[in-house]
Amino acid sequence: MELIFEISETGRKGYSLPACDVPEIDVSEIHRRKSPAELPEVSEPQVMRHFVNLSVLNHHVDEDFYPLGSCTMKYNPKINEEAARLEGFTNIHPLQPEKTTQGALKLMYELGEYLKKIVNLEAITLQPAAGAQGEFSAISMFKAYFNKKNENRKYILVPDSAHGTNPASVNFSGFKPVTLPSNDKGLVDIDKLKELMTDEVAGLMLTNPNTLGLFEKSVKLITEIVHQKGGLVYLDGANLNALLGITRAGDSGFDAVHFNLHKTFSTPHGGGGPGSGPVAVRKILENYLPAPTVSMNNKTYFLNYDIPHSIGKVQTFHGNFLVMVKAYTFLRIIGEQGLKEISKSAILNANYIIQSLKNDYYLAYSDFCMHEGVLSGKNLKERGIKTLDVAKRLLDFGLHAPTVYFPLIVSEALMIEPTDSESKETLDKFIEVMKKIRKEADDNPDILKTAPHSTPVRRLDEVKAIKELKTIWTK
Ligand SMILES: *Cc1c(COP(=O)(O)O)cnc(C)c1O
Repeated sequence: MELIFEISETGRKGYSLPACDVPEIDVSEIHRRKSPAELPEVSEPQVMRHFVNLSVLNHHVDEDFYPLGSCTMKYNPKINEEAARLEGFTNIHPLQPEKTTQGALKLMYELGEYLKKIVNLEAITLQPAAGAQGEFSAISMFKAYFNKKNENRKYILVPDSAHGTNPASVNFSGFKPVTLPSNDKGLVDIDKLKELMTDEVAGLMLTNPNTLGLFEKSVKLITEIVHQKGGLVYLDGANLNALLGITRAGDSGFDAVHFNLHKTFSTPHGGGGPGSGPVAVRKILENYLPAPTVSMNNKTYFLNYDIPHSIGKVQTFHGNFLVMVKAYTFLRIIGEQGLKEISKSAILNANYIIQSLKNDYYLAYSDFCMHEGVLSGKNLKERGIKTLDVAKRLLDFGLHAPTVYFPLIVSEALMIEPTDSESKETLDKFIEVMKKIRKEADDNPDILKTAPHSTPVRRLDEVKAIKELKTIWTK
């Protein structure tokens, strides 16, 4: 597709303005441009076609299947967007007097109440703008908690299957991460945990179900081991999609958990945003929450700055409010029973795919999975085929690839998360295409190695793109 600069014609206009009816003034020389701005000169229909066509070049969840593991590319019901566009939400300013923003504050308060109920924890902040920032906020609260107790704990345990943001958050919060190995079933190695969990360790960050899509069956034992040594346990809640209405973080002994509203409660995401990563905590951590939180007194909602040991603000104003509006809309429509159905469908869908493909691709861990599962392209290596080739070939069939090469502990990983809203027809189509690609690996491996063939651009040199970043067009 041509760039908009390339279709530009000198003198062509996409606007018509009435004659100027205010006095013209002379702008002094130093403020004047030396040469006209280099803007594309195009007509209005050209602009429309250009951007509409551009908007559909990338694969997107409204186009077809998007089984990106770990990232949960959920369908975003269109009514969410309607709600987020209501003028009452878009035309308010966070500095308005509270008595004029009661509706928005009420929405935030109620959203917080729902989220607390979902995980059975007592207090919440909605400020963090993403899961990673939620992790950082919570681990910073752990730090403040131990500082207050005059305990100089230095380390946080992080399983080797964890998302990269976990060790990063540990570092940013002033601790050092210590890797907790997984056992041969892909779960936490309990003996190793007992050995590593000393009184120098502030706690554990656990993902459950873990990034292999496996439920940590010993989760209660795990949290007990950490608590016995005076540590705190954090749940990376990115995989909450598998747990809704089935089990609650508070019941398993977690002290804090983040939500990725943009993964679990619809709201589109990708390309860096927008997101929202609220953190719910146990009562013992309430006094460390980022200030302000949203509180209610006699049906009046207000921002509560009275948090004695607050770690401070982590986000401008109150966080990504319109993402909260979408999550709230979703929750109100789905209702309590619906939440459970979401998780049941997500788990069923993932297992249907994994079980259907386990003879075509290598199954890293043979247990049943939760809302996502990990296959590996390891068995194709002898044919010179990499997982990346499979991923690229999928694009030719109009399907987005699963997450590849994550989690790091599975070589040639293909991490598939079908999400709850996909129909059996869509799952069957994906399975059929994956089987077809598997057969191509035997019959015509070159077609995989040179894929994609039908996308707007072919295989990109991602390393070069990072090393020689070019973001402007020049003639
Ligand atoms: C996505 C994800 C995160 C980080 O969340 P962001 O909202 O992308 O910052 C952390 N842990 C896991 C397991 C995830 O999948």
